[in-house]
Amino acid sequence: MEYVKPKKALGQHFLTDMTVAERIASTLDAYKGVPVLEIGPGTGVLTQFLLAHHGADSLVLAEIDSESVAWLREHLPQPQPRIIEGDFLRLPLDTIFGGRPFALIGNYPYNISSQIFFHMLEYRDHVPFCSGMLQREVAERIAAAPGTRTRGILSVLLQLWYDVRYLFTVPPGVFNPPPKVKSAVVRLTRNGSDDCGCDERLLRRVVKTAFNQRRKMLRGSLKPLFAQLDAEAGRAADHTAFLAQAALTRRPEQLSVKEFVDLTNDIARETAQ
Ligand code: SAH
Repeated sequence: MEYVKPKKALGQHFLTDMTVAERIASTLDAYKGVPVLEIGPGTGVLTQFLLAHHGADSLVLAEIDSESVAWLREHLPQPQPRIIEGDFLRLPLDTIFGGRPFALIGNYPYNISSQIFFHMLEYRDHVPFCSGMLQREVAERIAAAPGTRTRGILSVLLQLWYDVRYLFTVPPGVFNPPPKVKSAVVRLTRNGSDDCGCDERLLRRVVKTAFNQRRKMLRGSLKPLFAQLDAEAGRAADHTAFLAQAALTRRPEQLSVKEFVDLTNDIARETAQ
């Protein structure tokens, strides 16, 4: 096999710049000894550096494209890492390294980068570190501080469990084919807390409901959630006084993670029997 033709539907933009590839691989150098899962190795540009830094025994590759998998089997040096041919979004991450925690890395398929992070969150206790490249817009979103325009659902839900650092920006010219957007490399480190301090399912609903109407004040955007919660509990209640509090004239991007946790606890109390 001479060449893997990049497939748009799989978000394939292969790196052509070895300096950038090595810089991305180096973002995990602080975690030597921790096994590594690479998502979407493609033709192995990043993989070769991960192999050099961590060794084949500590590396597993997850790639959905059978053509790329065939290329890797033909071209990667021996001994080769284990290759899982399949969809990362369906992988049970607690089975990859026999339940051991591992670092996640990749030049991620941009079309599913948010879903990759949601999948990682499901298995957060198995993934203490994660780094890699994604479209700059999403990188800015997940790293966004409260009060910034780019803050969104993923900023809050990831920062609840991870410290996020925006590392560096990468121009489109270092890929084949070049993507339409700029790229960026980020690093996420698990923050050590194992309790978010509130009902996590309710928190997710609060965050999603609030950001789905991000221009609205919380008192407006959250109102339908109260109706839903009351309907689920089979009761009717008047929440006018709760919704009138001054804190709820704010918009979702203004709240810190801690303020979302407090708000979730307030809502849980307000809607309790
Ligand atoms: N790491 C390579 C390729 C990056 S392009 C490089 O830097 O050159 C993104 C890669 O993710 C492609 O190889 C694509 O086939 C793969 N991919 C896309 N969706 C995937 C999924 N759901 N699970 C695993 N890999 C996926």
